[in-house]
Amino acid sequence: MIISGPSGVGKTTLIERLHDKFDFAFSVSATTRARTEKEREGVDYFFLDEPTFKRWISEGRFLEYAHVFDKYWYGTPRQPVQEQLDAGRIVVLDIEVQGAEQVRAHMPDSFGVFVLPPSEEELHQRLIDRKRDAPEVIERRFAQAREEIAIATAAGQHTYDAHIVNDDLDRATQELDRLLTERLDRIAGSAGG
Ligand code: ADP
Ligand code: 5GP
Repeated sequence: MIISGPSGVGKTTLIERLHDKFDFAFSVSATTRARTEKEREGVDYFFLDEPTFKRWISEGRFLEYAHVFDKYWYGTPRQPVQEQLDAGRIVVLDIEVQGAEQVRAHMPDSFGVFVLPPSEEELHQRLIDRKRDAPEVIERRFAQAREEIAIATAAGQHTYDAHIVNDDLDRATQELDRLLTERLDRIAGSAGG
């Protein structure tokens, strides 16, 4: 499952709430951005320097990759995703729109969800409340968010199967739960007959 949406919209929170139920396998991305205090190497991200990231690209180690915020590289290592899919697990890719488009091109059967904030003002406030980023970083992320929302909700886009508005967390969690359950039922149904 691809889950996208602006930074701070609540993707991590939603996934954590459904983690036990669906036994998600998380894809750990690689990035060239700096590690924050709370993040752990190899758990939250593989923190690479730019030459190493570019080497991984040339070695074909990414399922997808993108240059984000005009500044940093982010990419999904291919092999762990394939291993988890082969083991029959739902793999969660928390990636932005450019990466999501690439994954859908390679894996047309993947499921794409875009999480929307109740409003742009609310998103701005959540980025501030999260107390993770410096003010200029928050502004850059907010500008990026507005662009992503425009792309993801454009008429005729094929990257996302569903949009979930994360207004009330319980309601949004239930909606994602329902979408995933329906999807799994459909897959089980078509495998059975
Ligand atoms: P993301 O993974 O999309 O960057 P997070 O899951 O880290 O976002 O959430 C960002 C912040 O918003 C966190 O402080 C989280 O507790 C809060 N949050 C998430 N969902 C809601 C919601 N529905 N209402 C209010 N705050 C929320
Ligand atoms: P953050 O720096 O907040 O962890 O992530 C910033 C943005 O990068 C988010 O939109 C997140 O979904 C996206 N992102 C994280 N990992 C990847 C990845 O492997 N590939 C792509 N394309 N985007 C990613």
